[in-house]
Amino acid sequence: MMKKQKGCFNRECDANKTKTKFNMSYKYCPFCKNDLQYVCRKRRCYALLPITDKDEPFCPSCIAKDEKLKEKRIQLAKNAITVIPTTIVAMPKAAEAIKEGIKVVSNEGPKLVKEISKLVPK
Ligand SMILES: [Zn+2]
Ligand SMILES: [Zn+2]
Repeated sequence: MMKKQKGCFNRECDANKTKTKFNMSYKYCPFCKNDLQYVCRKRRCYALLPITDKDEPFCPSCIAKDEKLKEKRIQLAKNAITVIPTTIVAMPKAAEAIKEGIKVVSNEGPKLVKEISKLVPK
C-alpha cells in the first residue's frame, strides 16, 4: 500500500499554490508552519482526503476515475483480441506473413486478411 501524503491548505502559502505534497512524517508545513492535512496522492490532485481509518492515499473522485479507466482498458483489450488473432499480434510477424503469401492466413477468411493488411506499414 502506498503511503498517504500531506498538503498545505493555507491559500497564501507557496506549497498550496504549487500543490506541493509532503511525506507523512511532516506535521507542519515547512513553508508557513500551518498544520498539514492528508491530500490525494494523484498527480495534480490536491483534494483533501476524507478522514477514515483506511490507508487509502487517493481521494474518492480519483479512485472512481481510475476504476472507469481500468474498465475501459479491459474493454479495449477485449476488443483488440477479437479483432487481431493472437497468432499475428506482432507487427513484424504480420508483415512477414503478408510477404510470404497471404495464403498462410487466407484459410482463416478474407476478414482476417483485411485486418492484417491494416497492420502492415505503408
Ligand atoms: Zn504552507
Ligand atoms: Zn484525487
